[in-house]
Amino acid sequence: MTPLARLLARRIELAGPIPVAVFMAEALGHPAHGYYVTRDPLGVRGDFTTAPEISQLFGESLAVWAIETWQRMGAPRRMQLVELGPGRGTLMQDLLRVAKAVPDFTAAAELHLVETSPALRAAQAQRLDGYAPRWHDSFDAVPDDAPLLLIANELFDALPVRQFVRVGAAWHERLVGLDEDGDSFRFVLAPGRSSLAAGIAPAHAAEGSVFELSPASLSLMGAIAARVARRAGCALVIDYAGGVGDTLQAVRNHARAEFLVDPGESDLTAHVDFGALARVARESGAVVHGPLLQGELLQRLGVMARFDALRARATEMQANTLASGLTRLVSTDGMGSLFRAMAVGTEGLMPTGFETDGVEAL
Ligand code: SAH
Repeated sequence: MTPLARLLARRIELAGPIPVAVFMAEALGHPAHGYYVTRDPLGVRGDFTTAPEISQLFGESLAVWAIETWQRMGAPRRMQLVELGPGRGTLMQDLLRVAKAVPDFTAAAELHLVETSPALRAAQAQRLDGYAPRWHDSFDAVPDDAPLLLIANELFDALPVRQFVRVGAAWHERLVGLDEDGDSFRFVLAPGRSSLAAGIAPAHAAEGSVFELSPASLSLMGAIAARVARRAGCALVIDYAGGVGDTLQAVRNHARAEFLVDPGESDLTAHVDFGALARVARESGAVVHGPLLQGELLQRLGVMARFDALRARATEMQANTLASGLTRLVSTDGMGSLFRAMAVGTEGLMPTGFETDGVEAL
């Protein structure tokens, strides 16, 4: 058992099974043993790879989104440029390098990074040296005194979800308990019906089906949407989506792992429910655009032209890397269709790339 598994097992012995969201939050964010707290999980030697780590084409394309959307906001002289969960800082580094061509943008941008991992804060400090970033533990701590431009890539999928299972005509919360020997975890059902789920989950569902709810995601989106509704601004959220039912996943060394085994040692995620995020954003007064498939958005932002320009001055090896990166980012059998992009902005502001609907409606 990992040290965190022992702590969680003791807690369950003393106080009973815990919600899936509690298990997930502790596995990822426990102050001493949490997955993100203890390591930099990204890249070939880590556990998983993200779009900005695959190719500079990702962050450079999002630069077009950021600069044009800022221009459409009326090019405010001050703006909070915020990234949630910036990983190694690669996306923002690529974005800001391209943005140097628009000095008014870089002069206006005050860089705020919301990051809980000390290891990743250090990586971000290295890459973003020269841009005077400020770090925060939560979005609420970002100063609320200027228009907002926010990007979150693969952040919402790391926020904890609660799960509910359909039993007869009711929903029961799925909890994490201990097996008979007390040395491994297993899923159990709460004996009582969940009135929370009864209020929001589908009224009709097949026996045994699973409903997921991420209160942390909804309250974060609500806070972002309320801010862009109050001040000018826009947020771009890119993440895994499209799964139905149980979408929990554990990944370790670039392969699937067991969700309940060795908490703190593998990355735990759930698909993002863009429909639920869109509803809470609208309720908070913001306008929702998309979601679009990631590949579609990148193409609208001119990823092909950027690829051609970079290839023209690349060595053959670099050109091959660029080409395979492009394919992974946009192709419909890769990230291009697994990932969705949704923008949440002030009324009257049309974020670049979202002018027409995508293939999917909410
Ligand atoms: N956006 C980056 C990293 C994605 S991994 C990329 O695309 O490469 C998830 C990131 O979110 C990591 O930086 C992780 O440390 C951070 N993170 C996870 N939970 C968080 C939370 N509750 N608040 C802020 N950051 C969080």
